[in-house]
Amino acid sequence: AKNSGKGRVVWLERRETSRFARHAHIRRRLQLAVENSSFRLHYQTQLELSTGNSSSVEALLRWQDEELGDVPPAEFIPIAESVRLIHDIGRWVINEACGQARLWLDAGTPRTISINVSPIQLAADNVVADLTAALQAQAIPASLIRVEITESSAIADLPKASRQLRQLQAIGIRVDLDDFGTGYSSISMLRSLPLNTVKIDKSFIDDIDRSHHEASFVGGLIRAAHALGLKVTAEGVERREQLQVLRELGCDTAQGYLIAKPRTVTDLSAAPAFSLN
Ligand code: C2E
Ligand code: CA
Ligand code: CA
Ligand code: CA
Repeated sequence: AKNSGKGRVVWLERRETSRFARHAHIRRRLQLAVENSSFRLHYQTQLELSTGNSSSVEALLRWQDEELGDVPPAEFIPIAESVRLIHDIGRWVINEACGQARLWLDAGTPRTISINVSPIQLAADNVVADLTAALQAQAIPASLIRVEITESSAIADLPKASRQLRQLQAIGIRVDLDDFGTGYSSISMLRSLPLNTVKIDKSFIDDIDRSHHEASFVGGLIRAAHALGLKVTAEGVERREQLQVLRELGCDTAQGYLIAKPRTVTDLSAAPAFSLN
């Protein structure tokens, strides 16, 4: 027991060192990835519960690096944000998604694409201009693009965030609040931000088919959102039973592995449509 204390310190130091080393490695490789645009977008289907329509997708960023392999966005996005690479990455995502929206339009299978926008991007003012330019370059209607923001993004400078989101809505881009219920969330944010949809975080959806408490809590969130004129999307739906509860609670849209995992464009068009029944 006497030695284990010291051993633990050494182990923690090693772990810290390797964490910093990985951080630095990712930062270096990310710089190259930005220069070479070596990212991909995968698309996850969203299912409209009243109609069974599934022509909306969320764009999710993928990065496969020669040295690091697949690095998940939850790991590299925070690093990109901390070294300002997120602006170039965010612009790549916008251009790629708008280009894909054009391709789907040309193919006669138009899909609406939701783009995740980082709080840092939103704080920097470029998003409205970048999106406007990309819509024009691809000649696609703004209604084919949606923007997802997280609650933390709104917190930093609420009036400024609101102004930018209102500008997006003015050109026809709908705005979704992501991960609702996590972070610094509050019901009052639903009133103060210009929003079209609230996405209820997966953690609230996990047990709705196993716990009446959880189900009635989500039911309350849905009613509150509807009372404010907002649509509701449930995230992380993995079981039929959850989907059934969400339909009973009047949820508008569902997203999750049950309906579809995030897929490449090719896999998406090859996959059979999800059936509600
Ligand atoms: P998010 O926006 O909340 O996206 C949902 C995440 O949950 C995705 O992880 C998705 O693959 C995963 N997911 C979807 N359905 C299920 C399910 O049924 N079960 C489980 N266990 N997971 C599910 P992913 O793709 O790894 O992305 C993680 C996060 O990285 C995203 O969370 C988002 O915050 C961020 N991100 C992804 N792409 C972008 C991007 O282009 N720009 C920015 N700024 N952030 C992005
Ligand atoms: Ca999202
Ligand atoms: Ca989310
Ligand atoms: Ca998230």
